[in-house]
Amino acid sequence: MQNQIGRAFAAIVLAGGLAACGHEELPAAEGADADGFSPATVTTQAANAAVPMPDDYLDGEDAARRGLIAETDLVVTREDGRRVWDIPSYDFIEGEAPPTVHPGLWRQASLHSVAALFEVVPGIYQLRGFDLANMTLVRGKAGWIVIDPLTNKQTAEAAWAFAMDHLETLPITAVIFTHSHVDHFGGVHGIADALADDAQIVAPVGFTAEATSENVLAGPAMQRRAGYMYGRNLPRSPRGHVDTGLGKTPAFDGQIGILEPTLIVDHTGQTEMLDGVEFVFQNAAGSEAPAELTAYLPATKAFLGAEIASRTLHNLYTLRGAKVRDALRWSDYIEQARTLFEDAEVFVGQHHWPVWGRERVQRFLTEQRDTYKYIHDQTLRMANNGMTPSEIAEAIELPTSLRRGYHNRDYYGTLRHNSRAVYQFYFGWFDGNPAHLNPLPPEQAGKRYVELAGGPAALVEHAQTAFDAGDYRWAAELLDHLVFSGQADTDARALLASTYDQLGYQAESGPWRDFYLSGAYELRHGMPERVMNMADTAGLLRHIAVPVILDSMAARLNGPKAEDTELSLILSLPELDESHYLWIENAVLHHRASTSDDEADVSLTVSQDLFVDILTQQVSLGDLIGGDGLQVDGSRLKLIKFFSLLDKPDGVFAIVEP
Ligand SMILES: [Zn+2]
Repeated sequence: MQNQIGRAFAAIVLAGGLAACGHEELPAAEGADADGFSPATVTTQAANAAVPMPDDYLDGEDAARRGLIAETDLVVTREDGRRVWDIPSYDFIEGEAPPTVHPGLWRQASLHSVAALFEVVPGIYQLRGFDLANMTLVRGKAGWIVIDPLTNKQTAEAAWAFAMDHLETLPITAVIFTHSHVDHFGGVHGIADALADDAQIVAPVGFTAEATSENVLAGPAMQRRAGYMYGRNLPRSPRGHVDTGLGKTPAFDGQIGILEPTLIVDHTGQTEMLDGVEFVFQNAAGSEAPAELTAYLPATKAFLGAEIASRTLHNLYTLRGAKVRDALRWSDYIEQARTLFEDAEVFVGQHHWPVWGRERVQRFLTEQRDTYKYIHDQTLRMANNGMTPSEIAEAIELPTSLRRGYHNRDYYGTLRHNSRAVYQFYFGWFDGNPAHLNPLPPEQAGKRYVELAGGPAALVEHAQTAFDAGDYRWAAELLDHLVFSGQADTDARALLASTYDQLGYQAESGPWRDFYLSGAYELRHGMPERVMNMADTAGLLRHIAVPVILDSMAARLNGPKAEDTELSLILSLPELDESHYLWIENAVLHHRASTSDDEADVSLTVSQDLFVDILTQQVSLGDLIGGDGLQVDGSRLKLIKFFSLLDKPDGVFAIVEP
């Protein structure tokens, strides 16, 4: 994105127009909209207008709509009226890109704005636009094999019902979870009624543990950041959320669940007959997800690529916050699939639309393979020459041969943040400069920068000059210091919000756009009151191993409060036939399996449902003591003390201000 903006700037300078880039030049009719988002400045308009779009290449409108059977204006709501999915809210996406949206993202968004059932090849169908990911259906002998039942019970239900309106109504004979990300399994309860009694549930090795634990330990902060990444609170509009680059934004108000697999794929080349269809699997653990599989169907020469390749540059690092991914390993898996399944005539991904034709599939996989390897190799090359993450991010650019492919563009991941991810993978957060070893935290630094600038008014003047020159990254840096100093007035906050607007409008990446615009939104309207729908994840939490839950409790223990506390507890869950011994020592919460010899200050016996309710904060344990749902032996005082030492993070915290 930034390289293109760089070129746009160059074009403006060459045309002698930079001086005319002030925001005063805007058409008078375009004021702020209802949510306060500002219009595109002349600089932003010029930057977006100057984005070079490659010639149609490997895809385009034809491919995105190829095989369309039936389309729907899908709106999915829950009984209480909460909207889970709303395709018509994207009706504004048509025609040329408005000046407030990067034309690359607009193009991707246009191709995603349809909810429909498609025939990929005879016997293979896809439901696209019913959720962030696709649901793929393969016709078996006796019924349907469902690949990835979407994120939510509600959207999965709607997608399945729509498919059955247009295809043969048959039971589901197998479900395949391609990987451990929630957009690929969370909706399984929405198709549960159609499952045949002997339906196989197929998943890659490590699936359940990864699927249930990924968001437990760091859940609240990830949820909050995911709200930014997917533009949870943004309006769907040319000045708001347009697309994630991967699909439309996932529903935060649907119900999430999981089923235990009955058949595990643990090695590449594993061949299984599912309802009369031969599947040759690839175990791609540690590619785009820690547990992931792909599959080849020899009969139809279809390569079901899950998410190891997609029609976007994907994330080596996810902005919501996640462990970084191994670019080299990921690239190797793509190469393995390309050679192993070289006869493939169609690539069927779990996001976006397929790639048809053997040669095109080969070229697509080759270019995806090389994009990740290029980022990996060049980041290390530059790092070994002494460059630091910011410098590498500024310098890295794909070679022309890779840049021309739409599927390598920055719609979701970006070159910039992916190169930082590679750096982090090898070197961690520290760039080696001692000035960055122990920097002042934002509030302290902010106060000093404001003083250095000559006070708040002087800093705003500098920032306004930068803004008027279209130098939004610098304006953001200056105003961020002011906001964190605690001395920003309404006008200064509004200027930072407008700065984020422009940065968002110029971003090709959906998540970058949503991050900037979410920041702008919260500067204008404040934080959301609620971040997590913990109750909706209960269907997932029931499958989490208890030790993982206890680890997450340990990560909630308030260290300073727990100083000098020594306490032990036996937790029994009779339904699971599990008993755990927990103790606090040195302000650390430990746990291990309990033995009959254990003696503790207090013993707690609780049903699994109640335990999940406590964890999802639907009830507080303090309120339950003395009730019927649980049994306490020993010191109740110590039990209350124990739970009083645990933080109750709700994920509501400030991001763009102190
Ligand atoms: Zn996905």
